[in-house]
Amino acid sequence: MAKQMDYNTIREVFRRFHEAEPEPKGELEHVNVYTLVVAVALSAQATDAGVNKATRALFRIADTPQKMLDLGEDGLIDHIKTIGLFRQKAKNVIKLSHILVEQYGGEVPNSRAALQSLPGVGRKTANVVLNMWWRYPAQAVDTHIFRVGNRTGIAVGKDVVAVERAIEDNVPVDYALHAHHWLILHGRYICVARKPKCGACIIRELCQFEDKTL
Ligand code: SF4
Repeated sequence: MAKQMDYNTIREVFRRFHEAEPEPKGELEHVNVYTLVVAVALSAQATDAGVNKATRALFRIADTPQKMLDLGEDGLIDHIKTIGLFRQKAKNVIKLSHILVEQYGGEVPNSRAALQSLPGVGRKTANVVLNMWWRYPAQAVDTHIFRVGNRTGIAVGKDVVAVERAIEDNVPVDYALHAHHWLILHGRYICVARKPKCGACIIRELCQFEDKTL
């Protein structure tokens, strides 16, 4: 595990990320906050591209909890059966839509606790929704961010909650909102799991990874 990076180095890392892409965006398609919750819940152990392919048609007909309930579990399964774990995910989406209608007047609540109480919505999903929709600097840590944080020293921690805390504690606040997307995109396209593309990496001399592929 790398050592936690110092303040000035982290600031330079994010200055470069910001210079390269001032407004990094998530890649999951959605038309409102409800469809964002559904898309993120469907994306567990699936690619964003695969989820987008399935949800484009789905969200045209079911973009509110009530419309999803009207579509029903079987109708939903017809749309998402190309996505891994689709049966369990369909059950969760129907259950969470029920709860949104019955307990929240059809709206999506915006506290981490209320979001996490929904079926199929874990801490990571809640943080993605808080970050992408409400622009709250929540840090959702997935496999890419966990790897990048620990390899580089940007956010060192033994588990995802420790890495989440390390990002919150160490990333300068002016970069906190977009830190999630900069790190995820860096991990997805440059600092990839097997053979990181260190030659094309804009933070290579700041990164502490011992096995850089230079
Ligand atoms: S130098 Fe290599 S290991 Fe370090 S962040 Fe860049 S791609 Fe990842």
